[in-house]
Amino acid sequence: MLYDVVIIGGGPAGLTAGIYVKRAMLKALLLERTGVGGQIIITDLVENYPGFLEISGADLARKFEEHAQKFGLEMQSMAEVSGIEEIGNIKIVKTTAGDFEAKTAIIASGTTPKKLGAKGEIEFTGRGVSYCATCDGFFFRDKVVVVVGGGDSAITEAIYLTKMAKKVIIVHRRDKLRAEKINQEHAFANPKISFVWDSIVEEIAGKNTVEKVIIKNVKTNAISEINTDGVFIYVGLIPNTAFANVKKDERGFIVANDRMETSVRGIFAAGDCRVTPLRQIATAVGDGAIAAVSSEKYIEGL
Ligand code: NAP
Repeated sequence: MLYDVVIIGGGPAGLTAGIYVKRAMLKALLLERTGVGGQIIITDLVENYPGFLEISGADLARKFEEHAQKFGLEMQSMAEVSGIEEIGNIKIVKTTAGDFEAKTAIIASGTTPKKLGAKGEIEFTGRGVSYCATCDGFFFRDKVVVVVGGGDSAITEAIYLTKMAKKVIIVHRRDKLRAEKINQEHAFANPKISFVWDSIVEEIAGKNTVEKVIIKNVKTNAISEINTDGVFIYVGLIPNTAFANVKKDERGFIVANDRMETSVRGIFAAGDCRVTPLRQIATAVGDGAIAAVSSEKYIEGL
């Protein structure tokens, strides 16, 4: 079967692209390496997506999916993409669930949380170290947790963790946060949150589970310890683009123009996986719509 469009990734960008290509009556398939939804599934609360004053990430993802289903988008879960080959104008998308042929591909494969690289991080993952407060926060009821990072993920998830934990200590490598000002204000006003500035985590230690983190002040080089039951790490994102043989920046984010065209004709990129000044649900959705319309125009010109 030859599809018009294969969409790689089932987050907000991919699902929006799916809605638009189906409304353009194109034959489309969305591939997802696990299940549909993307990173927002692990976001507790979304309060900056217009039209929804407050909605959980999982509920919003479900709405996107239902919306795509309404227009009959075909979706294939458990299909991890390993490469995109080309024979003439046809793209062959290679996956763990087989090969899929299409006239165009839209890469909306998102990002994965970056590892901190501290001693003990891997060893204690699942035993106190976590990258997902929504998934694991429950286990830290009335406990002390450390959150590492100063971006929106660290700050919003730290606020979420105050619902369960008795104390949340944010360790940040600078003395200023990167997060949106409104998120910063909420964190500063939260009595359960305290900050350790200018500090990096050198080691996460314990016997069977996490018991402490050893931190270094980057200005004074002073080493100190924080006793804690858990460490939540939010130090940025790595693009899921290793399979894509298109132009990328030095960090692996895909370079695409304002029509979402990549360096390879017929391959488009949308959402967090591309070089973009803002990685939000609202921007991913916009990218997905543009990529869909661009792929429709490209097919018309074939
Ligand atoms: P991010 O914005 O890249 O922030 C990563 C944070 O981790 C930065 O504060 C950075 O410090 C710190 N960091 C990086 N490497 C580190 C290391 N090795 N050791 C210690 N700290 C380190 O990543 P993010 O917070 O995951 O957000 C990703 C994107 O999603 C952003 O565009 C963000 O706005 C968006 N987002 C938005 C919301 C929202 O509510 N609006 C929620 C979640 C995510 P420096 O500041 O010193 O660089």
